[in-house]
Amino acid sequence: MNLALWLQRTAQKYPDKTAVYLGRQGVATYSDLMIHVNRLAAWLAQEGIGPSDRVAIYLPNTPEYLSLFYGIWQAGAVAVPINAKLHPKELSWIIDDAQAHVVVVSDESYEFVKGTIGRCTIVALSELRSQMKTETLEQFGVVERAPSDLAWLFYTSGTTGRPKGVQITHGMVKSMALSYFVDVDDVSAEDSAIYAAPMSHGAGLYNIMHVLKGARHVFPTSGHFEPSEIFDLADYHDRAHMFAAPTMIKRLVEHAKSAGVGAHGLRTVVYGGGPMYLSDIVEAVEVLGNVFVQIYGQGECPMAISALSRDEVSDRKSPNWEARLASVGRAQSVVEVQIGTKKGERLSYGEVGEIMVRGDAVMPGYWNNPEATEKTILNGWLRTGDMGVMDQEGYITLKDRSKDMIISGGSNIYPREVEEVLLTHADVLEVSVIGKAHPEWGEDVVACVVCRAGAEVGEHDLDAHCRENIAAFKRPKHYLFLDSLPKNNYGKVLKTELRKLV
Ligand code: AMP
Repeated sequence: MNLALWLQRTAQKYPDKTAVYLGRQGVATYSDLMIHVNRLAAWLAQEGIGPSDRVAIYLPNTPEYLSLFYGIWQAGAVAVPINAKLHPKELSWIIDDAQAHVVVVSDESYEFVKGTIGRCTIVALSELRSQMKTETLEQFGVVERAPSDLAWLFYTSGTTGRPKGVQITHGMVKSMALSYFVDVDDVSAEDSAIYAAPMSHGAGLYNIMHVLKGARHVFPTSGHFEPSEIFDLADYHDRAHMFAAPTMIKRLVEHAKSAGVGAHGLRTVVYGGGPMYLSDIVEAVEVLGNVFVQIYGQGECPMAISALSRDEVSDRKSPNWEARLASVGRAQSVVEVQIGTKKGERLSYGEVGEIMVRGDAVMPGYWNNPEATEKTILNGWLRTGDMGVMDQEGYITLKDRSKDMIISGGSNIYPREVEEVLLTHADVLEVSVIGKAHPEWGEDVVACVVCRAGAEVGEHDLDAHCRENIAAFKRPKHYLFLDSLPKNNYGKVLKTELRKLV
């Protein structure tokens, strides 16, 4: 089944309902959206785009993103959303790797991209808009797609080496969307989805459930994540839903506290994509209420490995609530999760190993990269590269990515554990712990710390705090005080940059 059918059905059901908003302003009803999508599909076909051809999108969050997804799918083609903050050279690499036929770019970046990219038709957003207004473009039916056909080629952030193209199929997206209703949250036509995080990532994928249910799609006018704007839009549109990385939630909470605003209109904030520290989520629930649901996923199994429900995130009564809150919840309905050894043998409850996943939301493999696929998929199980442990009740707790684990004097040290402790210090705003090569010990623990404004905390205080809370061998041997932590467009801390710094 082609995912584009979901939009068609919603447009039949709610033709006159405003579907797309730019800030507070309605810009398209569901029937307008359907017309735009039909025209885009027809225009792509005119450009020679056929089933399984790739169409790249190099745009910041903008309402046309939605039309593009469905126009591309309707034509049977594959969307290649590219992080708008990537350098044109990185863009060029992805376009070549994906063998994209068309790339849609913002008007501002058109000339720049043109100078960098050959062999691919470059279309500026203004041109795309005029195609969407072209009434003479013929009505274009929905091209038939099988569950195994590609819908989205997702390029991993490539913190180690070149990014890899994850093949996301129509079947995977459908499974992810249906399990969202079972494991994460329900959605109704009265809800609104605010696109605060980049559409080229999980936030973009989450449009599906909101299209299927006929909700509102709200694009912030600023084009990026601005806490005050998010609170304003949630208040205005009501029953708002958003996906946010943990660092974004931290900014929402800081803003709510300093501006004295509440979470009025905010219904659900799904968080994931990076570690959420216990002290941060406890504070977030205190400040914004029980709006949070956690998911754990990765491009290779998008948004669909595990989930921690709203009730579990706000539970402060169960004897083991802290351990649960520090976990990423339990396997989502459409996948199996196990903890495995390097060879893929299943470990018992309580044993630390690599998290492995198989099921309907897992990728068939990387695009044109059989070597990487072979390393990653073992007997049908996806090796996530994340270390973790599962308890008797199925709750999964992440340790750290295997490459982030520090081995010092032969002992394994999980940065997350040290970070959790440092974050409980009142003067610490953000922290990231990494390893630094040491001739004798293998690696030394280094803490990169951002202090709260006005705090005068020093290495000595933080060391004393660690001594009180964790084993001596896990304590950082060095501290680096920074004004901010380097993060990528998705709000993930770039440990590779920190390693370069130390
Ligand atoms: P990406 O493929 O860019 O979405 O990155 C996926 C990686 O982000 C995972 O393999 C995890 O290491 C991390 N991640 C995703 N969700 C969570 C979560 N809820 N808690 C901690 N780390 C997460």
